[in-house]
Amino acid sequence: MANAFDVVVIGGGPGGYVAAIRAAQLGLKTACVDDWKNAKGKPSLGGTCVNVGCIPSKALLESSENYERAAHKFAAHGIRIDNVSIDVAAMLARKNKIVDTLTAGVASLFKKNKVTLFPGLGRFVSGGDRYRIEVRSGEQTETLEAAHVIVATGSVPRPLPGVAIDNEFITDNVGALQFPEVPKRLAVIGAGVIGLEMGSVWRRLGSEVTLLEALPGFLMAADNDVAKEAQKIFFREAGFKLITGIKIAEVAKTGNEVRIKYSVQGKEQSQGQEQVQAQELVVDKLIVAVGRAPNTDGLGADAVGLQIDARGFVEVDAECRANLPNVYAIGDVVRGPMLAHKASEEGVMVAELIAGQKPHVNLDTIPWVIYTSPEIAWVGKTEQELKAQDTQYRAGRFPFLANGRAKALGETVGFVKILADAKSDRILGMHIIGPFASEMIAEAVVAMEFSASSEDIARIVHAHPSLSEVMHEAALAVDARALHI
Ligand SMILES: Cc1cc2nc3c(=O)[nH]c(=O)nc-3n(C[C@H](O)[C@H](O)[C@H](O)COP(=O)(O)OP(=O)(O)OC[C@H]3O[C@@H](n4cnc5c(N)ncnc54)[C@H](O)[C@@H]3O)c2cc1C
Repeated sequence: MANAFDVVVIGGGPGGYVAAIRAAQLGLKTACVDDWKNAKGKPSLGGTCVNVGCIPSKALLESSENYERAAHKFAAHGIRIDNVSIDVAAMLARKNKIVDTLTAGVASLFKKNKVTLFPGLGRFVSGGDRYRIEVRSGEQTETLEAAHVIVATGSVPRPLPGVAIDNEFITDNVGALQFPEVPKRLAVIGAGVIGLEMGSVWRRLGSEVTLLEALPGFLMAADNDVAKEAQKIFFREAGFKLITGIKIAEVAKTGNEVRIKYSVQGKEQSQGQEQVQAQELVVDKLIVAVGRAPNTDGLGADAVGLQIDARGFVEVDAECRANLPNVYAIGDVVRGPMLAHKASEEGVMVAELIAGQKPHVNLDTIPWVIYTSPEIAWVGKTEQELKAQDTQYRAGRFPFLANGRAKALGETVGFVKILADAKSDRILGMHIIGPFASEMIAEAVVAMEFSASSEDIARIVHAHPSLSEVMHEAALAVDARALHI
């Protein structure tokens, strides 16, 4: 059969395209099926991450941060710019160009590594010794035969019951990345990573942003100290407001406005009962960012008996093997953090497993980053997790305020916090809120992958003046060795 492959990857996001390229590099005849199309209706590899996720959001975060610097921070450096203004169309065009360049880059890597792309929706038709995958694109269908299948179908925005997304007034991440002008009043339902990042972009450009969060607290997945610091820093800015403990009652678009009716669990107690206050918020745009759901729609899982769990994830073991022989699943469609780098690492692991190698992915050392200002990044356990599992630990913490490079940058808020085992001193978690946290966290990941102790970090020479000295000082502080230079 002409369309017979050693490996067929379904999905061309950071999980799928990386898996396909690695498999081809290892000598396996590989195809990738991906149904993403750009605004011109052309195939656009890279999945959520490159098209409407990590990359475009970071492009807008950079543009909006530059705008904010020019408008409010340059003056402190003696740089005077009068009448700073934002050209939203130019900002969006820059973002789109970055996306186009990167998707084209993935396509050229496919060519270079001889991965055959089949644009369209792939679905299992039959199993057995070899799997049959049907690819549908418009009216056309093609059938592929595969010895191994890697499911990398990613995730989609989790819907909010009763709220219809039009991606104009009521948007998910797709619409939030392309508002044609700065909305005066913006609400975001969900104060998680995506809600915070998108809210930050438009707040910096001048929107009055209200974040509505159902959970009783803020950033509950982060270390409590970091979450507290972040809440203090983010919401001291005028025009950025957080309301936690909300329940959405109704969302309605009327004319050019969106009305959000919600209730809040009141703080004051009335005869032992929590008060519930009904509220209404009227905005120009609403972003719904209540998380992501695994995507197995149209995959034909039933046709072959591919096991999907109650939450919609493809069930896999530690090596991403599904319940069927020679079928693997990776990335957002399986358990674990929904992060691009985790998807890619699983892609490499699975390709190498198929080629007979013995790779592994350590889910305990996946770094998390929130690209707010200041950035937040962490790896390993939070302090509340260590307490909950009764682990004896010591903590060291050091602020950016005392760091020369941070002072020169004018970015002195935040701190680094290191958690180490009380007996062995082995690092269990590192948490950063501060400038370039996304870059600094790499040292923490390397340290944890090599089972380093906090003393190891304390004895490594860090360049002066650099932000990494704050990591060094936090490590010294774990054992009260701080120099306080
Ligand atoms: C706004 C936003 C910002 C983000 N920022 C970051 C960040 O800064 N860092 C980070 O690590 N993560 C970030 N993420 C998360 C990141 O995008 C995902 O974790 C990552 O894209 C998951 O990769 P994946 O390959 O599993 O799936 P996806 O990227 O979702 O790719 C899946 C691909 O499969 C295709 N597909 C699905 N079903 C089929 C089918 N049956 N046939 C053919 N093709 C199919 C889809 O069209 C898509 O192209 C962000 C997400 C969003 C929404």
